[in-house]
Formats: sequence, structure tokens, C-alpha cells
Amino acid sequence: MNKLALHGGAPVIDRPLTPYRSVGAEESAAVQRVMQSGQLSGFIGSYDEGFWGGTEIQAFEAAWKKTFGVKHAISVNSNTSGLFASMGAVGVGPGDEVIVPPWTMSATAMAPIVYGGIPVFVDIEPDTFCLDPKKVAAAITPRTRAILAVNLFGHPAALSELRGLADKHKIWLIEDNAQGPLATEFGRQAGTVGHIGVYSLNYHKHFHTGEGGVCVTSDDALANRLMMIRNHGENAAEALNVRDLSNLFGFNYRMTEMSAAVGIEQLKKAEKLVERRVQLGTRLSEAVKSIPGIMAPVVRTECRHVYYVWVARFDEKVVGVSRDAFARALTAEGFPNCQGYVKPLYLLPIFQRRIGMGREGFPFNLSQRRYDKGLCPVVERMHEHETFEFSICSYELDESDFARMIEALHKVYAARESLRNEAAVR
Ligand SMILES: *Cc1c(COP(=O)(O)O)cnc(C)c1O
Repeated sequence: MNKLALHGGAPVIDRPLTPYRSVGAEESAAVQRVMQSGQLSGFIGSYDEGFWGGTEIQAFEAAWKKTFGVKHAISVNSNTSGLFASMGAVGVGPGDEVIVPPWTMSATAMAPIVYGGIPVFVDIEPDTFCLDPKKVAAAITPRTRAILAVNLFGHPAALSELRGLADKHKIWLIEDNAQGPLATEFGRQAGTVGHIGVYSLNYHKHFHTGEGGVCVTSDDALANRLMMIRNHGENAAEALNVRDLSNLFGFNYRMTEMSAAVGIEQLKKAEKLVERRVQLGTRLSEAVKSIPGIMAPVVRTECRHVYYVWVARFDEKVVGVSRDAFARALTAEGFPNCQGYVKPLYLLPIFQRRIGMGREGFPFNLSQRRYDKGLCPVVERMHEHETFEFSICSYELDESDFARMIEALHKVYAARESLRNEAAVR
């Protein structure tokens, strides 16, 4: 039998995989065009025509609306800024509860805190890894202002069901769609089922502008509020005749003309870039079907999964070794992977110590909120034992890479007996 690379054997993949690259000559030319104009931003932080941004920003937002079939697209300088702006736009205030999943990039759970709100962590579904709508329903209280759902790893959350819940309780549904551009549920774009959807354009995402983000909504009032929060809204309130001034002190969340110009080119390629990820993810899933105890990511029949990350379920009982030992052996073979994604966010010190705003812990009744270990058992199980992931948006795989990745999986599986005595890392 082939000796595992972990135990000194030769790795199956002996050169690094090719990094994924979404930008090319078109983006380069677009940046040059802006450079030559000399106007690197068209925004002005007061109420005149620069309030809405320059020509590239306007064109980028128009292209975004067309691509995603939305009424309003508001560019921002990151998904994080977009999430913060959304919380402000829907009126989250001190003591308001916002339901969030614990398995996501941390910015999702920080967003309510910006306005003094309280993140309420609700467990996920074990197949899609997204918010469990039944548990969301049970967590809604008179203080709940919004549900902030994440379309994690590129698979939509149960969006229609969550929207139904939000409408029934007259609260807001916001989608963190950083990882799911062009994913769909029942034929509808992920990001457009909620009242606001937020996209990321950071370097690591399907397509990007270096840093950047976009908020989409079909609601005119929300669009106005988002634009005011993006750009010093306090200066625009009189001219726009805005009555409800809650949360309308502005930030500077503005995108540059260069980023917008790159974004226009990226949008033209978006479907092609995403479709390639879908093909790679689907093929990888096909390939693990023959390995008992390793389950490919689930794609619900009503959904399109866009594979920002390819996440496998791992059954330690069936395979007979720990997830950690298996995944580390796989890494040693040159198959890059991580184990269990991020720590459930409520276990981070900021929640354990409840220090979000000021020095004295979270405001108001947050002390009633418990962030103890055990709060969301499904997430904890996935994180500790049941998942390993391949960052499929970080690599461009050719046929030989692909073949060797599958070979690495089979090699580690075949040699699993030799991993029995590997100590757990956690
Ligand atoms: C990437 C990501 C973010 C943050 O996006 P930025 O554009 O870097 O601010 C937030 N949420 C999720 C789920 C992400 O994947």
C-alpha cells in the first residue's frame, strides 16, 4: 500500500494548485480608463450631484440591477459595510434582537451590534448548513427586528420559508449573500428574496473588485436609507425631505471609480465564472460518491448551489478515524482543505465577555442572552467532527489536478487504518 505523505510517503499532489483568477485584460483596461480621467472617485459627502457617486458607480449599479433583476443596487466598499448599512436601514436599535446563524463570517453577527442590537444565534440545518427555519420561528420574540440569513458556501438558506416567517411577524429578512451570487431558490435569485440582499466583492469571492460590496432591494424607502448611510446621510436629510431620521447618521462606505469600473467588467463574466465553479463542485461531488462515510454537499432540488466552498460531511464512525486525522492526511497529500469552517461565533471572546459597545458589555438586556457552549448543537457537531472543506473559489483546476485530488482522497481512505492512532488536534 502507498505510504501516506503524513507518514513520510510521497504526496500525490506535488506542486501547488493554480490559483483562481477572475480578472484579465478587460479589467486592466477599465482601470486605465479611470486613471486617465484622473477622477478616482465621483462621490461628495454633501447633497449635490456627487451624493450618488460618479459615472463608473452609476454605470456599475445599473449593470448590477440588470444582471440580478433588481430595482435598486447600492454599491458599498464591502459586504461588511453593506450588512452594517442594512441593519441601520431597517431600523435596528438598542436592545433589538436580530436572528443570525453562528456559522458564517464574523461580520454577519457583528452587524446588529453597530446599532446596539443583539445577535441571537439560531442553529442550522445539517444538510444545507444554513439557518433552520423551525428554530428561527421558535426564537422570534416581541423584540425581534430582523432575521439575517446567510446563503452559506453558495447554497441558499430556506429563503422563501424565512421570508414567509418575516412577513407573518412583520419583521425584516436580510440576506448575507456574500458567498451565493447567482445561486437560486425556486428560480429566484438568492439575495433578492429578503427585503435587502448584500453581496461581497472582496478578492476571495466568485468575482471581485479587490474590496467592495452591493446591497440590493426592491423597496424605494430602504434604498434611500441605504444610500444615506453609505454617504453622510445627515447632510441629505433636508433636501430629500426624510422624516424618519433614525440611524441616518452616515458613514463613508463609498466605492471608488476604479473598483466600479472593474465591477462592470466582472459582471459581464459573472455567469461564466460561477458556472465553472458549479461544474467543478459537481464533479468533485460525483467523485466522492464511491467513498463510504464521505458525503458530498447537498443541493436541494429547488436550489442552485454556486460552490463558494465545497463542504463534505464526514462520518467518523463509518470511516473509523477522526475527521481531523483524515483531513490532515489529505492536506499532506497536497489536497488543500480545512476542517469545520469557523468556530461557532458565540464562542468568540467578544460574545463570551459580551463586550461590543463601550466597556461595560452589551447594552440593555443582553445579559439575558446566553452564549454558552452547547447553544447550537448542530453547528458544534459540524465544526468539531463532521465537516471538512475545500475552498473551491481559490483554485483553477485542470484535468490532471482534478484526477490527482481524487487520487489523494482514495489514497487516504485506503490507508485509513494507519491513521487510527493519530491524536486529535482539538
Ligand atoms: C466574505 C464574507 C463577508 C465579508 O465580506 P467583505 O466584503 O470582506 O466585507 C461577510 N459574510 C460572509 C458570509 C462572507 O463570506
